[in-house]
Amino acid sequence: PHSPEIDRARSLIRVVQDHPVPGVAFQDITPLLADARAFRACVEALVEPFAGSFDVVAGVEARGFLLAGAAAMLTGTGLVPLRKAGRLPAPVASASYALEYGEAAIEVSVDLHTGDRVLVLDDVLATGGTLAAAARLVRERGAHVAGAACLLELESLGGRAAVPDAHALIRV
Ligand code: AMP
Repeated sequence: PHSPEIDRARSLIRVVQDHPVPGVAFQDITPLLADARAFRACVEALVEPFAGSFDVVAGVEARGFLLAGAAAMLTGTGLVPLRKAGRLPAPVASASYALEYGEAAIEVSVDLHTGDRVLVLDDVLATGGTLAAAARLVRERGAHVAGAACLLELESLGGRAAVPDAHALIRV
């Protein structure tokens, strides 16, 4: 999308070289979140293609939570957090995925129900492992993935292969 608001949001993503480890260009969305207009425009654009097709927003810990809370309030839907392993008091399903070094897992509570239509949100699509695991986790609960969306896709990392239908507001 080339709306002026999204272009402006793009300019508000701060790139921090070599964080958290050498070689990584970390995409810091905090300046975007701190800007009322950019934040609103992004949340509106994230949900727009999926209007009416979801009843729950699932945010991936941690920055996905920030988008999911706003998206849920904007669309009158509920929110279910997809949490890093070990954080939920009573997880009922989990999905693991590969990281650059090792593995990670996300978990969900009983609050995600069979038949729920779920919009999955995260900040950045890099290798795609996280969003793909989130979609698997939703399906494992018997829920339906209405869509997956992120603010920023890092195209050179090829993550789209793992989540071909993901909606990305900004691609670099
Ligand atoms: P991936 O599973 O490789 O697609 O990585 C996506 C997840 O890791 C998201 O939850 C992002 O918040 C985080 N992430 C990966 N790479 C970056 C990056 N370069 N800048 C900011 N966040 C990143």
